[in-house]
Amino acid sequence: MLNFKLILPALILTTLFLPYQGQAAKTNQPTTVEKQVRAGDTIFSILRRLGFQQSHLSQIIENESLYKRITLIPRQVYFLKESNGKTEVLFLSDLTDRTVTFFKKGDQAGVASEKEDFETEVGRVTGWVRGSLVASIQNIVPSKKLAYRFLDAYVFDYKVQKQLQRNARFHMVFEKKFLDGKLVKYGEVLETGLEIKGDYVVRKFLPFADGGSFVDEQKPFLDRPFFAPVNYVRVSSLYQPYRFHPVKRRRMAHLGMDFELEQGKPIFSVGHGTIVKFGRNRAAGRYVVVKHPNGLTSYYNHMSSVQDFEINQTVSAGALLGTIGCTGYCTKPHLHFAIKKHGKFVDPITYIRPYAFTQRHNVEQLLSKAASDSKSQTAIK
Ligand SMILES: [Zn+2]
Repeated sequence: MLNFKLILPALILTTLFLPYQGQAAKTNQPTTVEKQVRAGDTIFSILRRLGFQQSHLSQIIENESLYKRITLIPRQVYFLKESNGKTEVLFLSDLTDRTVTFFKKGDQAGVASEKEDFETEVGRVTGWVRGSLVASIQNIVPSKKLAYRFLDAYVFDYKVQKQLQRNARFHMVFEKKFLDGKLVKYGEVLETGLEIKGDYVVRKFLPFADGGSFVDEQKPFLDRPFFAPVNYVRVSSLYQPYRFHPVKRRRMAHLGMDFELEQGKPIFSVGHGTIVKFGRNRAAGRYVVVKHPNGLTSYYNHMSSVQDFEINQTVSAGALLGTIGCTGYCTKPHLHFAIKKHGKFVDPITYIRPYAFTQRHNVEQLLSKAASDSKSQTAIK
């Protein structure tokens, strides 16, 4: 296992000093072909189209648990690999490096879910905001996932769309993942920069075991009373007084924020407090409510499992509450997190730091290192 923290600065430096190499510089081997999901496709209709017979499919269905979480969206990309009479069909995950592979060779067929060993390159782009920030990023790198990931670096302390000015400058350092020399997906955003409210604000992705956050070497968020409730901080929906509800299909308020993570990942109490309620209901699914000494109450919904609590039990900051799931009104695994103040829901993002309690030492270490670096730089001048 390589130490990611050590190789990261080296990778970033490499791209800063070498001319940017685009996709064309990579050698394309003909063995991996990009395909697109068609409207109405199922896993089996795709496999049949690619030459899988009924006897192959019946071998595959025995391991349904490995692929039943794949959701197919029209125009979604998958890959066909053919070598030595073996056919492989690969579905890549946006959230992880796990790949689901269907294969057949002769009469044999099967399905496997494995962590893929991608070749990774680091790319760097610079641009100016024309229209929305997300659209401006997508004009340079054709990835909705990267564009939204960029926002995660700023949503904790900026109202990005409101505070952004036309022609604001931005940059982004990100991972590109290759299979057999072919760019197959984008990985993590490693660094961002954005001109906002008169400053050029740089954020760096700090990876942890099983997680990571965007941190600002100038801004530790120490004034926030709470921590993030998850280790991998990806915000998929913000607090919005009005929004279109994907399940109920009507306009209704979103009185919390959503963290998108894989099913089963841990959920932590954002601060010290007592368990005042937990259980299950139709809308929230499995949920926990924690009351904190500062008068705020935190809510955790759609969990797949909840710890074995008793009412009025004390929990410390960072205590495990349960795991990510999709119970209640939910379309894909996520945590709906909310905060109530004086009995009313408030925007929770302004109360939490962008990193989990268990990671505070990692973040503080980085910040103190950055502070001493800038001090020694001043001394040299
Ligand atoms: Zn929500």
